[in-house]
Amino acid sequence: MIVVMKPGASKAQVQHVVDLVREYGLKDHVIYGTDRTVVACIGDKRMVDKGAIENAPMVERVMPILAPYKMASTEVKPTRTVIPIGPKKFAFGSQAIGVIAGPCAVENRDQLLRTAEAVSAAGAIGIRGGAYKPRTSPYSFQGLREEGLRILEDARDATGLAIATEAIGVEELGPVAEVADVVQIGARNMQHYPLLEAAGGCGKPVMLKRGPSAKLDEWLLAAEYVINGGNADVILCERGIRTFEEYTRNTLPLSVVPELRERTHLPILVDPSHGTGHAHLVPAMCRAAIAAGADGLLLEVHTDPEHALSDGAQSITPVTLMEMMTSLKRIASAVGRTM
Ligand code: PEP
Ligand code: MN
Repeated sequence: MIVVMKPGASKAQVQHVVDLVREYGLKDHVIYGTDRTVVACIGDKRMVDKGAIENAPMVERVMPILAPYKMASTEVKPTRTVIPIGPKKFAFGSQAIGVIAGPCAVENRDQLLRTAEAVSAAGAIGIRGGAYKPRTSPYSFQGLREEGLRILEDARDATGLAIATEAIGVEELGPVAEVADVVQIGARNMQHYPLLEAAGGCGKPVMLKRGPSAKLDEWLLAAEYVINGGNADVILCERGIRTFEEYTRNTLPLSVVPELRERTHLPILVDPSHGTGHAHLVPAMCRAAIAAGADGLLLEVHTDPEHALSDGAQSITPVTLMEMMTSLKRIASAVGRTM
């Protein structure tokens, strides 16, 4: 249920509504908009006397929230969420489109620092790279772990780029959140509910990747776990889903972008690297993602893709990134965005 306050409602009048809502045993989230304040009430509303709340001073109306996800929904918050990221406070979810680029995994200091310099020169706002890697095979490279986090910190110090890196479990969340500017929750973990709840208290923005078999509502409900846990700074990342099709690693459903923009206020990233699995398909899908309304791109970039320890086939080179940026900027400007 949402309580919409009249424009000009005072803090005390909003607090009065919050007190009433709490009396009914509901959880409240107050959202201060530019012209009005709404109080989202989450919980069992069967015992609520809607009339009593409607009668409170400066209440305009009380409405049900129809979407199963509440806090993530545009019903509760019609204005887009803007999340400042990294040392330069890049505003994710604003008019500006942000590129986060880097290797699949942090492999060594030299590789990561060189890549960070290159993606920064190309105009990226963040460096990505897994210190902890969730691998399909237990025999594959699992990441440099703590050492990888130290290398990412050095790359941020050298370039001013924001760090996006994955927490693969509740145990890793603390050390990752200490270093990361954006904590990535990977596709395999999208329904790892204890991790989502813990991410609600991690104190850093969370990038939630879509599970390869998750429906849109399930993905938004996973985001709801993080928000309900106390962290409203959630960025959604489409990275492709599993279908019968085999010419790509995953199928990248870009129609999800305009659909999400209607359903949620959260910023939306697209990851065409995992979404296609093939470097040659990445530039076109980046252009398409921006045309569809994405707020940013998550890209795998490697200085020597042939020798990458993971995901080489889908990694573009810094040269390709640099070349591609020119056409991406043109698409961005055609759809009223900046880059
Ligand atoms: C990654 O970003 O390197 C990664 C493991 O992605 P996903 O969780 O989408 O497979
Ligand atoms: Mn990868």
